[in-house]
Amino acid sequence: MTETQERALQKRSLKDDIREIVADEGPISIERYMALALTHPTKGYYTTRNPFGVEGDFVTAPEISQMFGELIGLWAAEIWTLIGAPARIRLVELGPGRGALMADALRAARAAPDFFQAIDVHLVEASDLLAEKQRQALADSGKPATWHKGLDEVPHGPAIFIANEFFDALPVRHYLKTAKGWRERLVGLDPEGELAFGLSEETEPYIKAQAADGSILEIGAAAQRLMTQIAARIVSENGAALAIDYGYVRTAFGETLQAVKAHQFVDPLAAPGEADLTTHVDFSALARAASAANSRVHGPVEQGAFLRELGIVQRADMLKRNATPEQAAQVDSALARLIGDAADEMGALFKVLAVTRRAVKEAPGFAPLEAQS
Ligand code: SAH
Repeated sequence: MTETQERALQKRSLKDDIREIVADEGPISIERYMALALTHPTKGYYTTRNPFGVEGDFVTAPEISQMFGELIGLWAAEIWTLIGAPARIRLVELGPGRGALMADALRAARAAPDFFQAIDVHLVEASDLLAEKQRQALADSGKPATWHKGLDEVPHGPAIFIANEFFDALPVRHYLKTAKGWRERLVGLDPEGELAFGLSEETEPYIKAQAADGSILEIGAAAQRLMTQIAARIVSENGAALAIDYGYVRTAFGETLQAVKAHQFVDPLAAPGEADLTTHVDFSALARAASAANSRVHGPVEQGAFLRELGIVQRADMLKRNATPEQAAQVDSALARLIGDAADEMGALFKVLAVTRRAVKEAPGFAPLEAQS
C-alpha cells in the first residue's frame, strides 16, 4: 500500500470501516463491534480521546473525589497485610483512565510505609493517549510504573488488581430467543447501507435456557475470561482483586448495551468510536468465574456500603476540618454522590466484588461471611 492510500484509509471513519467489513464478511457479532468501537488501535473511542470529566462524556468515581482512590489505597494496604505482606507486591490497575485513582491510592498508601515500600505499579491500558495522561498523573507518585496492553503482559507474582469501570467496557454477545431457538444478535447493514441490528441465520445449539420468545441473553465472555485469569493468578501466586462497576447481582434476561456521548444516551450504532459503549456488569457471572478458579469471592456489595465500611464519612469529616465553606460543600456533595443509595444513585447502582485465596476469610469493606445472606 502506498503512503497516500494508507493516509486515505486512516481518514475514513470507523463506521465506514465497519460497513466495509460487514459488506465483505457478513454481519459481525456485537462483541466484535464493541471491541472495534472502543479499542480499535487508531480509531477506537478510548484510543482517540479523553472521555472523562464534565467537558467529556462521563464522570467516574475517582474523578468525583480524591476520597475514592485514597480509600482504595488503604484497602490495598490492609488486604496486603491479610495475604501475608509479601515483600514485593504488584499493584495492578486495569483501565486507569486519567490515572486519578492510582495517584490518590499511592498518596494514601504512604501512610502504610511497609506496604508502600513493597509496591511495584503496573497499569493495563489499551490507549496510548490515556497511558500518557496516566504517566503525567503519576509523575510525582514516588513510584515508577510499567504499562501493558493486556493482563497477559503483566509479569507473574503476588499482585493486587484494581478495576473501576473496566469490566463494563469489555465486549458482550447478545442472543435472542425465537420460535426456532436462540439466535445471535448481530450488527449488519439495512437496505440503505446503514449499520443495523439483525439476527444470525443459524440458531445456537448450545444455549438451552428456557425463556419466552423475545427474551435476550447478554453474555460477557470477555469479562468472565478475564476474571478467571485474575482469580487463577491469585490462587497460584497470591494476591487479591477488587472490581467496582455499574452492575447487577443476579444473572437475568435482558440486554444493557448503551452508548453515551456528552452525558447523553445515544444510539449505539450511530457513531462507533465517538461514543462510549458499556454494559451493566453481571456480578454473579464474575463471582461464578472466580469461584470456579478456586478463589474466595467477597461480595458483591453496594458501593455505598463498601465505602462507608472503609470510613468514607470520617475521611470526609477530616477533609472538611481544614476546608473553606465552599470546599466543605464540595466534599459533602461528592460524598453524597459516591454513597447515595437511592435506587438511581451511584452508591446503589455500583457494586463491589473482591477476590482472594480461600484462606482469606474476610476482606475490608465487606461484612463478615456469616453475616452475608
Ligand atoms: N478506571 C477509570 C477509567 C474507566 S474507563 C476511572 O474510573 O476513571 C475504562 C478504561 O479502560 C479506560 O482507561 C480505557 O482506555 C480502558 N480500556 C477499555 N477497554 C480496554 C481493554 N480491552 N484493554 C485495556 N484497557 C481498556
